[in-house]
Amino acid sequence: MASALDAVHRRAAREGAARVERIVLRIGALAGVDVGALRFAYEALAPGSVAEGAALDIEEVPARAWCRRCDAEFAAGRGLIFQCPFCQEYSGEIRAGRELGIARLEFTLPS
Ligand SMILES: [Zn+2]
Repeated sequence: MASALDAVHRRAAREGAARVERIVLRIGALAGVDVGALRFAYEALAPGSVAEGAALDIEEVPARAWCRRCDAEFAAGRGLIFQCPFCQEYSGEIRAGRELGIARLEFTLPS
């Protein structure tokens, strides 16, 4: 979370934001992030920063894998190898679910 908050600070500084109103993070199911721990860290780190008092929204991106044989995407569970629900082929190709970053930042400019 410290690095995510750094990214928020850098972006807020670049845009000349006076105050960050809302932070929307996009986190993939396979990103290895504990959302509860992340929120807790945010509560600890935000006070005194430009992000103090900002709402923290988290968009969770479900894991999706891709089957080479069917050329189809399907919902993946946890792990490294996923079984295609259409042809039962095994696949290790992740198409979504590893995202970790800022989806959107809402801020006010100095008046
Ligand atoms: Zn398949």
